[in-house]
Amino acid sequence: MISSVLPTYNRAPLSFVKGEGTWLIEADGRRFLDLGAGIAVNALGHAHPGLTEALTAQAGALWHTSNLYQIPQQQALADKLVEATFADTVFFTNSGTESCELAVKMARKYFYDKGQPERVEIITFDGSFHGRSSAGIAAAGSEKMTKGFGPLLPGFVHLAFGNHDALRAAITDRTCAVLVEPVQGEGGIRPLPDACLKGLRDLCDEHGILMILDEVQCGVGRTGKLFAHEWAGVTPDIMMVAKGIGGGFPLGAVLATEDAASGMTAGTHGSTYGGNPLGCAVGCAVMDIVADPGFLAEVNRKAGLLRQKLEGLVASHPDVLEGVRGSGLMLGLKCKVAPADLVAAGYTAEVITVPAGDNVVRLLPPLTITDDEIAEAVSRLDRAAGSLAPS
Ligand SMILES: *Cc1c(COP(=O)(O)O)cnc(C)c1O
Repeated sequence: MISSVLPTYNRAPLSFVKGEGTWLIEADGRRFLDLGAGIAVNALGHAHPGLTEALTAQAGALWHTSNLYQIPQQQALADKLVEATFADTVFFTNSGTESCELAVKMARKYFYDKGQPERVEIITFDGSFHGRSSAGIAAAGSEKMTKGFGPLLPGFVHLAFGNHDALRAAITDRTCAVLVEPVQGEGGIRPLPDACLKGLRDLCDEHGILMILDEVQCGVGRTGKLFAHEWAGVTPDIMMVAKGIGGGFPLGAVLATEDAASGMTAGTHGSTYGGNPLGCAVGCAVMDIVADPGFLAEVNRKAGLLRQKLEGLVASHPDVLEGVRGSGLMLGLKCKVAPADLVAAGYTAEVITVPAGDNVVRLLPPLTITDDEIAEAVSRLDRAAGSLAPS
């Protein structure tokens, strides 16, 4: 008999009942160190007092009105995002895949309105992940996500990761945009080198096409800059955001320049919940903390510490681990064993990690993790890796 919850997930036998900062407490009382943060969502850890206060204050005042009316919290969050980034304008969604939907629509509408309706193709890359909507799975294009789901949304061109010649050759007079994650998350923590992101920007400018960045996982302070593309010193035309921006409340956004957004006039897009007062009140509290240069400096310092300890971990478990990669507090342990085995061994050692593609285990701790917690987490990972070494 089918389970009452649609069985689309492979769940670990863990039920967490409470969270405190970097800690998750299991129903049986065990305390786990959380290096997954709900897949880079709990950017400020669990039960952050500032976020709890923002959410409960808003919950006591007003939950929902719809986008038929002004929403002051939404206006405030849009102003903060515009102030802190390349963007001139913001649309709010409830998830990453909804942000993908709008990014695709916006890029196509841009050229439609410019009298080039044939420019609909969006170039994407192997190992990418853009969510599970019809546009999201068509964009990523992997057989695992698309097989059996009928005709896919057309207009995506899939290229190998890092093949510059193929990229140049793929741009035609039907191309409207390139869509890429500055650091691939699901694909196995694969950072796009800064030089490549710069080259991509130049290529887009040369051909007059739009650069769409998916910063759903790598954005909101995760890499030590507010957004990962800032490391390369370039800006996109359109950017997808979600996960960390809500700190655990479902919230996403599409940020764009005025030019890129020019096709999206009244009536062209909408969302019942997107930008609701609860989500935006929390989003404002997240931004006030994460966009602070002092906070980001701490993320970078702690990232250096974690990385250094992980290099040591790799050196002491050469049969289990191959290397560390990633950026900031978005790190991957390349494994010689099945990543699921290391994740499971982590459960026994009471440390939470997340498997990814390319034989990698992801470490995406709350950005508020402390130095002591980093030391404790690595010692638990050491125990986990040690339990897998061949005897
Ligand atoms: C998680 C993720 C998405 C999808 O976000 P959802 O909120 O699950 O729809 C899209 N892109 C990237 C890079 C992601 O990591």
